[in-house]
Amino acid sequence: MTDEATLPANAGTATDIRTEEVEDGNMVSANAMPGEVDGGKESADKESSNVEAKAIVQLSTPFARSDIISVIVGKQEVEFGIHKGILAAKSPFFEKCFGVGMKEANDNVVKLPEDDPEAFEAVVEWVYATRIPAAKPPPPLVRDYVLADKLGMTDLQNAIADTIRLKRPLPRPVHASWTWRITPEGCPLRELILDQLHHRIMTTPNKFKLGTTGTDAELAADLKVLIRKNHALTTALLWKTIDHNLQTGRGPLDPRKAPPCSYHIHKDGKKCT
Ligand SMILES: [Zn+2]
Repeated sequence: MTDEATLPANAGTATDIRTEEVEDGNMVSANAMPGEVDGGKESADKESSNVEAKAIVQLSTPFARSDIISVIVGKQEVEFGIHKGILAAKSPFFEKCFGVGMKEANDNVVKLPEDDPEAFEAVVEWVYATRIPAAKPPPPLVRDYVLADKLGMTDLQNAIADTIRLKRPLPRPVHASWTWRITPEGCPLRELILDQLHHRIMTTPNKFKLGTTGTDAELAADLKVLIRKNHALTTALLWKTIDHNLQTGRGPLDPRKAPPCSYHIHKDGKKCT
């Protein structure tokens, strides 16, 4: 488990939140003033002093000093201790969990029985270190992506898509098929996997075709299974191929050469800087 000693500097985000807190404090002070004037100078000074004290406490309470909450993940109930403030700042799902009146906010415990503890480890690593595990292969990364989707962590989703697009080999049909099964319809990762598989088949067709020179028996068998069992992906591949053929003179799209935000989610409509 990551401890405070290994926390990375995250001054930008922390500063933003602190600024908001100070602004909130100022608003409380300004709103309170009209009703407090008649109370006399001493009372006003006391109130002012309380507001200042509150602001100082807020200023000196960074994320790393927020409560440690327990997140209990999976059927095996693996427990993670993690700073509440950091988690809420990175995940809209957890931000909601810790909202006013929520049971989780009082108990400081959140249970995710349907999720994968290994995928949650990736969430913790992202929350504290903004890092994707260097050698993690695509299938576990896809699981991480699905959990990040549930938790509303689009930055993590985009980083995983970039890693799969730029730093991992093109998928085998069996992996593409599995990815299509566990990701939601319309998800950009599906489009990436489709483009990757299409590019792989179009640039090395003989590897996938039985009875030709250079057949890769494993890849050919994989594709056969995909066609038999995953009709949605088979149909998408067919249309991708037809569309490609209609665009005469153009090679298959190589996702590695696509613009940086091609497979990203931008909730606010703004591309990444
Ligand atoms: Zn982007």
